[in-house]
Amino acid sequence: MRTFHCSALPRILRCPASQVPPEIVIESDNVAGRIGQAVHEMLADYINIPANCHNVEFALSGVCNKYQVEADQIAPLFYIGKRIWDEHIQPTLMVIGVEQPLVWPDGAITGTADVLAYIEDSPAAVIVDWKTGSPTADHRDQLIAYGKCALLDSEFERTKIITVWLRDQFFDVEDITPEDIADWEKRLTYAREHPEEYCPGEACTWCPSKYECKARKQLVQTAATDFVGASEDATVPAKLGSLYFHAGILQEALDRYYKAVKATIGASGPIPLGDGRSLGLIDVTQRPISLIPALPVIQEHFGSLEGIAPALKVKKGELTKLVGAQADRGQKGKAIKAFMDSLQEAGAIRETSYQKLSIVKTPALTEGESDATA
Ligand code: SF4
Repeated sequence: MRTFHCSALPRILRCPASQVPPEIVIESDNVAGRIGQAVHEMLADYINIPANCHNVEFALSGVCNKYQVEADQIAPLFYIGKRIWDEHIQPTLMVIGVEQPLVWPDGAITGTADVLAYIEDSPAAVIVDWKTGSPTADHRDQLIAYGKCALLDSEFERTKIITVWLRDQFFDVEDITPEDIADWEKRLTYAREHPEEYCPGEACTWCPSKYECKARKQLVQTAATDFVGASEDATVPAKLGSLYFHAGILQEALDRYYKAVKATIGASGPIPLGDGRSLGLIDVTQRPISLIPALPVIQEHFGSLEGIAPALKVKKGELTKLVGAQADRGQKGKAIKAFMDSLQEAGAIRETSYQKLSIVKTPALTEGESDATA
């Protein structure tokens, strides 16, 4: 019997064929995954030894080096998790373990609970799960697996799951009922018995077989066809919503296509198009202005720097990288924070906002920040 990891269950229950490993494993750099691991490690350390709180900057620089991520990608998520933990979750819980391994007795399912705990005088195990991504429709299948594992491995009679959505700054509290587990086991058994059943869709994004899966290729073709007619229904919200995941699939396919074209031309030269033209790479020369030698010229021309602000732009990411590179070992996060505080005090930081597409929970499903263990 194959061992399923709890985190893979939302995908496997959606598409049973994805339980079969690919013939060739292609590793791709997963920045979001590394950010998730770093934030989980920070929160685990904090809950294990709250005194570490005094040394967050040191811990931050350690995980940033370990996972090759930037402090400003990690710190905001960590502080949101810490605040929600301190104010709403921790006060009523007795922690059993952090990063707690959970295993079915026959080894059919394994997983790691971010926090396993209980409430005094209650027969419920409590599992806290940190999420650094956007809410998904089927993360419940992972949570029920944790709940089932916790029940098998202990005297507990039921399970309560607290999911903390760090990016959206809220948490859900859910009781896993015997009916939930029975329905989940039914779907799990079905998935185990039907490894030939493909169900391409959102789950393909995290599937290790996505580069060789024929069903997924078929979906890309269907998505392309859907998009050709999409402009005719451009004002129908349901149509636009249903095409959102197709857009991601097509975008990914296009990105890979452009990468492959460039690599092929780089290796073998221009590709003939058969009509007297060919597809090649041309040199594009950019002429950015270097600020330091440009400043005297700018000043002479304009008389002063006043009034030319719209023409100047400071790259915040590059600047903080330089500050971090100059800092002493273990002091990177602290140095960047002090630098940003100085810029803030000098009135150099403006706050602007814009809107971006994002998947969020619909208000009807949002629990809000109530007592975590109510
Ligand atoms: S790529 Fe998609 S359709 Fe293919 S096995 Fe994976 S999840 Fe299923």
